[in-house]
Amino acid sequence: MTTKWVFSYHEGDGKNKQLLGGKGANLCEITQIGLNVPPGFVITTEACLNYLDQPEGKLPDGVMQQVHEQMAALEQATGKQFGSASNPLLVSVRSGSAMSMPGMMDTILNLGLNAQTLEGLVTQTRNERFGYDSFRRFIQLFGKVALGVPDELFDAQFDAVKKDVGVEADIGLQAADLKEISQRFLSVVRNYTGKPFPEDPYEQLEIAIKAVFNSWMGKRAVDYRREFQITPEMANGTAVNVVTMVFGNMGNDCATGVGFTRNPGTGENLLYGEYLTNAQGEDVVAGIRTPKPLQDMAQEMPTLHTQLLDLRSRLERHYREVQDFEFTIEKGVLYCLQTRNGKMNASAMVRTSVEMVREHLISEEEALLRINPQHLEQMLYPRLDPSFKGEPLAAGLPASPGAASGQAVFDADRAEQLGKQGIKVILVREETKPEDIHGFFASQGILTSRGGKTSHAAVVARGMGKPCVAGAEGINVDVQLRKAFVGGTVIKEGDVITLDGTRGNIYLGAVPKVEADFSDELVTLLGWADKAARLKVMANADTPNDAARALKYGAMGIGLCRTERMFNAVERLPIVIDMIVADTADQRQAALDKLLPIQRADFKDLFKTMSPRPVTVRLLDPPIHEFLPSEQQLVDELEQLRHLRLSVQGMEVLVETAKLLAGSKGETLPSSVHEMGDTRLVDTVITRKEQILKKVRALREVNPMLGHRGVRLGITFPEIYTMQIRAVLEAAADCVKAGIPVAPEIMVPQVCTVQELKHVRRLVQSVHQQVEATFGVKVNYQFGSMMEVVRACMRAESLAEEAQFFSFGTNDLTQASFSFSREDAENKFLPMYNDRGILQDNPFEVLDVKGVGRLMKLAVEWGRSEHPNLKVGICGEHGGHPASIRFCDEIGLNYVSCSGPRVPIARLAAAHAQILLGKKGNAKG
Ligand code: ADP
Ligand code: MG
Ligand code: MG
Repeated sequence: MTTKWVFSYHEGDGKNKQLLGGKGANLCEITQIGLNVPPGFVITTEACLNYLDQPEGKLPDGVMQQVHEQMAALEQATGKQFGSASNPLLVSVRSGSAMSMPGMMDTILNLGLNAQTLEGLVTQTRNERFGYDSFRRFIQLFGKVALGVPDELFDAQFDAVKKDVGVEADIGLQAADLKEISQRFLSVVRNYTGKPFPEDPYEQLEIAIKAVFNSWMGKRAVDYRREFQITPEMANGTAVNVVTMVFGNMGNDCATGVGFTRNPGTGENLLYGEYLTNAQGEDVVAGIRTPKPLQDMAQEMPTLHTQLLDLRSRLERHYREVQDFEFTIEKGVLYCLQTRNGKMNASAMVRTSVEMVREHLISEEEALLRINPQHLEQMLYPRLDPSFKGEPLAAGLPASPGAASGQAVFDADRAEQLGKQGIKVILVREETKPEDIHGFFASQGILTSRGGKTSHAAVVARGMGKPCVAGAEGINVDVQLRKAFVGGTVIKEGDVITLDGTRGNIYLGAVPKVEADFSDELVTLLGWADKAARLKVMANADTPNDAARALKYGAMGIGLCRTERMFNAVERLPIVIDMIVADTADQRQAALDKLLPIQRADFKDLFKTMSPRPVTVRLLDPPIHEFLPSEQQLVDELEQLRHLRLSVQGMEVLVETAKLLAGSKGETLPSSVHEMGDTRLVDTVITRKEQILKKVRALREVNPMLGHRGVRLGITFPEIYTMQIRAVLEAAADCVKAGIPVAPEIMVPQVCTVQELKHVRRLVQSVHQQVEATFGVKVNYQFGSMMEVVRACMRAESLAEEAQFFSFGTNDLTQASFSFSREDAENKFLPMYNDRGILQDNPFEVLDVKGVGRLMKLAVEWGRSEHPNLKVGICGEHGGHPASIRFCDEIGLNYVSCSGPRVPIARLAAAHAQILLGKKGNAKG
């Protein structure tokens, strides 16, 4: 049996895009549901691959024979004949692979024309202009696609004739002009190829089929596939469609156009698109004339407009997805020439999917699966106006999505000053530190010239939902001069710049933006997602503000509140420093006594905002020296202060002299003059700084990430944890008293042994007893452990004896599992590891399921073997990434916690995880 290489549109399987290509399969499908498609057939991708394998450039055996049979069927269906001089059949020869690759491969229109058939066409249609218009298009397309004649040679002749005739647009050309052009085009071909233009229609057809097959391996197409990572599994070879020509260029009752069944920009449920009268094929997209919006057709061709609306609804009812289609109107008859799923932006995608559920076209589940969770990011942040075409001044890493404009400022204090005056600022730094946090609050966005996607700036900006471009190495930041240099351009303080944190670009000036769009449809969709999902989605939030925003995004609680972020506020830092530099327990207690009411108020706000949802508070985690200035900074400041002291001392002598003189005259000096010459003021500052410096030196660690931090601090300085525990429980008690239901959870960081947990739990229990006694109310709380140390995972069974919940801190756990320090890995060797395929992904961005994930899975199993109802979650950055969320669902976690703006993405991803799990389960049977 010979292979079947060719399928008519009546017989091809509309689902088999691999074999027939997307265009071919869909044309089969819509032919078979009865839409008006010109008769045609499709030659398979198999034929293409087979042909490309043959060294001598021959079509596989049987292809042309089957093509002849199909052409006979077309002749039968149309009553025309291929090559006939009285009633000629013309066809288009069109490419189309399984994946849409717009503009990458070629199509030839009006094939079958030669001197005789042209004459037949002209006599038959009594339209000479149309005949020559079709002919010149055919010669050019065939010449270019099949014979490799450069387009410019044709364009030059075309323009020359237009100039001679004195017309601007092609529509102004008369039959005689088009005839002249056709003649010139034929000479172009003859001169370029050294051979006359092929006359025999079947010869034309065979050359054209081969040319389309060859375009699969053309440079353009190969580059495109590489760029968009289209693998052979996704699309292998192109099919060829041979379609009876229908003519949109036969006169003013003819037209050609493209349509979307709904508006792809907004999702609005209205036919959207453009058309041109008396035009063919590419004219609409090629911008030869300005096309008209499809609404205009309602006046110009009312019956056809009605037919178009009917086509639209039939396409949608069949595909149940927005379609992007091509049509042509020949003498009052509407033909559909192509359809495919419409590409839309995220908000249009959400709107159309939700509306299609309401129209009973699709199920909620289908709507959910249709939207890629990551794609939602577009809607959740402001972005640059897509129509803006300006060039970026510089680029860095896309560290936190969104777009913002503001005046450049070069330090956090200045940012705060200006921010308080209501001025929009962008904080520009070489890199940022925890003490810059107030500058973050005041800024619209953050730009750094150093550091990666997990640098301090990036992590904090993401947490706050502010755009950040990090590691923009082309920018030289000079904080002293308050300037940044980019090549020859200087950005001074106050110059307006724009950041695009989604792409990592920096622009001069204020670039127009499109606002984030938390539409009603998105709210509805996410509601469905919550119903479908098993995982709960919590937010990481440190302040009541963050919490309120997280609620808006649909967070079901707070999975991680980092208390140290509360310490960093400007007015609190001095107290925190007092606490750290304290030499005695009493001194430390005095500082803690000041912090207690502050933290209590923070927690109370947070609990109120989130009531009745759970709020997980993590006790102090970072090494305490992080709250102190760097050694270098202190040394520099002390040096300056000592200089100052010398000048003040000089002043003191002057003041003494002045006092004597004044006294001798019986006058008194104003008190400020006394202060001017008072070294004691300077001395106090010096003493304080020296004290801090001593502490900084004493606290210095070789490896702070593995040093004196987390629960280790809590055990060595129990008074710090006690204060925090008290603040949490008293805040909760206050709320309970006020009738506000709360669900506080206390979480211990960096735990590696159950003894640590026992120790802290005892503190909690004793404070809890006191608080209940003092407040006279019952306060429920949960006590749990972070799982971010390898040993903790290995001892999960034992930790579960003390903990009511576990929360995986996958940032630290990844660091510990790989023994990679994150900053070093990302800056030094990870990119090469990824390039060489040693590691497929960055494990700090994509959870390493095979290693870290396996450890998590074991820890969950072991933990639950001791404590079957153990609640388990994740609070690392991975908690917001769809693939990681899917894994968390599979290993049975109860919740994920991620930064507020990622909550919607996580909710949708959690729904996907369950739906897909169900499908997998069903498939397994
Ligand atoms: P692409 O994949 O680049 O869109 P197509 O094969 O769809 O290429 O064709 C290019 C243009 O020619 C389209 O506008 C299409 O509608 C038009 N076209 C293709 N075949 C025919 C035909 N048989 N009759 C009329 N117009 C056609
Ligand atoms: Mg097309
Ligand atoms: Mg940690």
